[in-house]
Amino acid sequence: MKIAILGAGAMGSLYGGYLSKNNEVWMVDIWQDHVNAINEKGLEIDELDGSVTKVSPKATTNPEEVGVADLAIVFVKSTQTAEALVKNRAIIGSDTIVLTLQNGYGNGEDIMEVVPKEQVIVGTTSHGCTMKGPGHIFHAGVGPTHIGAMSDDQTNAQKVADALEAVGFEMDCSDKVLALVWSKVFVNVAINAITALLDIHNGYVNDNAHAAICAELMVREAVTVANAAGMDFNADEVVANALVVAVNTSANRSSMRSDVILKRQTEITKINGAVVKKGKELGIATPYNELITQLILAKEDTYLA
Ligand code: NAD
Repeated sequence: MKIAILGAGAMGSLYGGYLSKNNEVWMVDIWQDHVNAINEKGLEIDELDGSVTKVSPKATTNPEEVGVADLAIVFVKSTQTAEALVKNRAIIGSDTIVLTLQNGYGNGEDIMEVVPKEQVIVGTTSHGCTMKGPGHIFHAGVGPTHIGAMSDDQTNAQKVADALEAVGFEMDCSDKVLALVWSKVFVNVAINAITALLDIHNGYVNDNAHAAICAELMVREAVTVANAAGMDFNADEVVANALVVAVNTSANRSSMRSDVILKRQTEITKINGAVVKKGKELGIATPYNELITQLILAKEDTYLA
């Protein structure tokens, strides 16, 4: 398979790096130093057990150099999806399968603005990665990848699952994937913005009674929106699960907290902000998610504006 990774940062490098073991893989990124490092000395993946995986995908900043791919995996930050797809249009032909495993809600919809529904696969990943420097990542967490088609036909999704399974990913291909996407969004709704605003580890969302109330109020709104959009979640179970995840990842720094610390744009508009957007479409008020979205955007303005 000819595969292009659109956004070859931490996660793009992991999926693209592994896939390059038995596919033609192009890492497409705007980060010139990273592209140069991959082309000059390959990509190094530091694994949790101390071993190092070394792979040699091709890398470029120029989508024209890649041409049309069989599969494009979108791994830019979810706020950059629409722009990245337009800029990398040369890679996507009438048969190119486009997969997103990004966090947040609405990535599939963003891709479908440019690519027909039949070509779009969405999903979630339990892997975790951080950038160590150009051409070098740390593979911090391992777990299943769930994918499924936006259309009713799962043939393309199964093809992608097979390709990922062949290089060692634990795969699940399901027609219930949107429920899994929402489930991950609920956890991010509960944890990310609170930990970013308070500059605190994930466990605090469960351990501090005030933080836990904020998380619960936002998650209950998100569940109401998801259920109005056709899902069937039990709000009590979803809240309990989000707090369990906060406990299980207690010492971790959420990605939104990292973004604020590093003075980067966050994914708030695709997490709590996506709940607000979907709520507006469905006529459901989401004041708690609206408030925290505006607070994070105000925080971003202290360093981005
Ligand atoms: P990252 O910032 O490491 O990588 C994003 C990359 O996209 C960067 O290298 C950037 O230069 C590149 N980029 C930006 N605009 C581009 C464009 N127009 N064309 C090509 N490349 C462009 O981010 P990440 O941590 O890999 O996260 C990617 C997505 O995966 C996010 O939605 C994130 O929430 C999700 N995710 C991350 C993790 C994790 O552990 N890092 C885990 C699960 C899900």
